[in-house]
Amino acid sequence: MQIYEGKSVFGGIAMGKICVYKKNEKQVKRQKIEDEEAEVTRYQEAREKAMQQLQGLYDKALLEVGEANAAIFEVHQMMLEDDDYNESVENIIRTEHVNAEYAVATTGDNFSEMFAAMDDDYMRARAADVKDISERVLGILSGVSDADLASDEPVIIVADDLAPSETVQMDKSKVLSFVTVHGSLNSHTAILARTMSIPALVGTNLAADETVDGKFAVVDGAAGKIYVEPDEATMELLEKKQQEFLEQKELLETLKGKENVTLDGKQMLLYANIGNSKDLATVIQNDAGGIGLFRSEFIYLERDHYPTEEEQFLIYKQVAQTLAGKRVIIRTLDIGADKQCDYFEMEKEENPAMGCRAIRICLTRPEIFKTQLRALFRASAFGKIAIMYPMIVSVEEVRKIKAIVAEVKAELDAQGIEYGEVEQGIMIETPAAVMISDLLAEEVDFFSIGTNDLTQYTLAIDRQNTKLDEFYDPHHPAVLRMIRMVVENAHKKGIWVGICGDLGADLELTQEFLKMGVDELSVSPGRILPLRKIIRETNVGQL
Ligand code: PEP
Ligand code: MG
Repeated sequence: MQIYEGKSVFGGIAMGKICVYKKNEKQVKRQKIEDEEAEVTRYQEAREKAMQQLQGLYDKALLEVGEANAAIFEVHQMMLEDDDYNESVENIIRTEHVNAEYAVATTGDNFSEMFAAMDDDYMRARAADVKDISERVLGILSGVSDADLASDEPVIIVADDLAPSETVQMDKSKVLSFVTVHGSLNSHTAILARTMSIPALVGTNLAADETVDGKFAVVDGAAGKIYVEPDEATMELLEKKQQEFLEQKELLETLKGKENVTLDGKQMLLYANIGNSKDLATVIQNDAGGIGLFRSEFIYLERDHYPTEEEQFLIYKQVAQTLAGKRVIIRTLDIGADKQCDYFEMEKEENPAMGCRAIRICLTRPEIFKTQLRALFRASAFGKIAIMYPMIVSVEEVRKIKAIVAEVKAELDAQGIEYGEVEQGIMIETPAAVMISDLLAEEVDFFSIGTNDLTQYTLAIDRQNTKLDEFYDPHHPAVLRMIRMVVENAHKKGIWVGICGDLGADLELTQEFLKMGVDELSVSPGRILPLRKIIRETNVGQL
């Protein structure tokens, strides 16, 4: 047995034979030609045909993976229409008196090197796209079509790298999994693989050659591993894992794409809670309508230094882009209490849960807060980002936050940096916020109830202390009454309200929340479909 590791693009277990995917080598020779104008025309005709193929791929991707992910083929069309690209090809043909193949290959290399050298991650990833369009035109010019899968049975595709067009063109019924040696988690191929719900790994430390070709293997997408010729004991474990995964998938298949609507037509938004951009795969796999809580403090906890604006921006941008226009609610850092970060150099406190945490740190150390806000607003140009502030106890805090946000926006305006419309909400997780929720509702766009902290502060029970479990009643009427009060106050002021604490995933309370009129539940991704099932089986009017 050999075990190779890669970066997980999408979870799930795939078992089957490996098929190493080799691109058809398009050998490009430099040839002198006599009639440059005829060669330019030959190029233009090939380019026109490539445009038509890309339109076909766009239409196919639109059906299979949705508009946002199909957009890559529109980008490819735009690249092929780019004046600089076309002038470069035609110029090489005319001035060097060479064949169109050579001119396209040279232009493709030059442009992709130029993109690869750029500072911006997104632009760097476009190097692969320029190569992809150049390969397409070359294929048409030389009459060599793209490689096909050399297998009739479903296989695990192992490749050095895969261009987005190669991924989309493959017959999905024959693909169990993608495993590539190169490729980034940000690449469109990775995004496509996630959207297709195919277990996939990139950056895997194996060789895409005869050492693995044709061998039986198991891909554990979530663990980022591929087992080639696994032994019996490993196989047993993996089969069990696959069984669990399949049961979950079965539920998913029947409910995926369906609305979260009750029998009498009441809608509920079902969003996902994440702590990390690595969780995105399961968000999409479980058909979340958006992200209702991104616990951004994990970005701080994973490092031994304050994350820079750029580091944060790239993470938020990736999340926004992957969610492709769906709402992404990012909570500003909630350090303190059980989440301690050494480099914040906080003084030791007698009672950290009631100490300097969350928004209290942000308001006393605005330079840290502003760095995060700048990153968030910048990322809002790439998707539908909303910001949510934790541990609020007063209207004054919200006004202070708004003043800081106004400063950040003014700075971005002065620098000519774009940002989108950003909804701003607060977490309701202290009894104080509940009691003044009518006043707070006038200040913000939405509420999200953090029942984990709300329960601990209402019942005066430390959520970390397992010895108090017998006293801890998550269904305590005090908490449920508070939720009802918050929903009523929010609706009176015309704002929406969700629950992002663990209680939101409690299936025993789903009907109660529907009755109260809760607009959104944000839960760990795996809980979305079980919730959808209950919602669709409920008639609120008859409760
Ligand atoms: C909550 O308190 O319910 C919540 C969602 O925030 P966290 O669990 O991160 O404190
Ligand atoms: Mg909380």
